[in-house]
Amino acid sequence: MSLALAAAFSVAPLASAQALPVTYRVATKDPVVFITIDDGIVASQAGLDYVEKHRLPITSFLTSSQVTDSKVRYFERISRWGSVQNHTTTHASLATSDSSLIKAQVCPVQVDFRRTFGTKPWMLRPPYGAGPDGHALNQVARRCHITDIVMWDTVVEQGRISYRYGDGLKPGSVILLHYSANLAVDLKVAVSAARARGLRPANLANYLRAPHEPRTPAVSRRS
Ligand SMILES: [Zn+2]
Repeated sequence: MSLALAAAFSVAPLASAQALPVTYRVATKDPVVFITIDDGIVASQAGLDYVEKHRLPITSFLTSSQVTDSKVRYFERISRWGSVQNHTTTHASLATSDSSLIKAQVCPVQVDFRRTFGTKPWMLRPPYGAGPDGHALNQVARRCHITDIVMWDTVVEQGRISYRYGDGLKPGSVILLHYSANLAVDLKVAVSAARARGLRPANLANYLRAPHEPRTPAVSRRS
């Protein structure tokens, strides 16, 4: 073991007691992937039609400033088999030690979305994927009842799929799309790639459980 590694292990208990889990790929053996769609700038009707036709579970990471009154019903419908989660108020980078900035970006969304969608978010996706392990982010997010930081291991954009790791889509992969005019095409690419690997879209909220529900870690589950 290198000295650096030994040092990392020696501080692990303290760090793990404070750090929220950061998920790039969900630890599961189920043949599932998770489709997540970010931001909320464009409300594509073709995208909604595709989701409703196939009853796809979608986790929407929405930026609250983009959830205008006329788009609320759209996001409700497209997230019907999934959930609406937190992607900040105005899409600022959270890679900062400025707790007041982070608070203004994360905490009002919790109240806002509970009022708008009926459920308080518990997952947070930091804009640009920036700073998910930050100490200030962890402290503030925890205080506002975030329990999971959700990143991704796969991106579909403009009809093209790309992977963070070298092994492509795997059970538990989290796929990032955006609310763009191209959403229907991107969804088809994501679903086709999953099917080609024998995987199906599932609801991320069933795997990263809401705070009030008991967690059932796979490693300790008894049958
Ligand atoms: Zn974003």
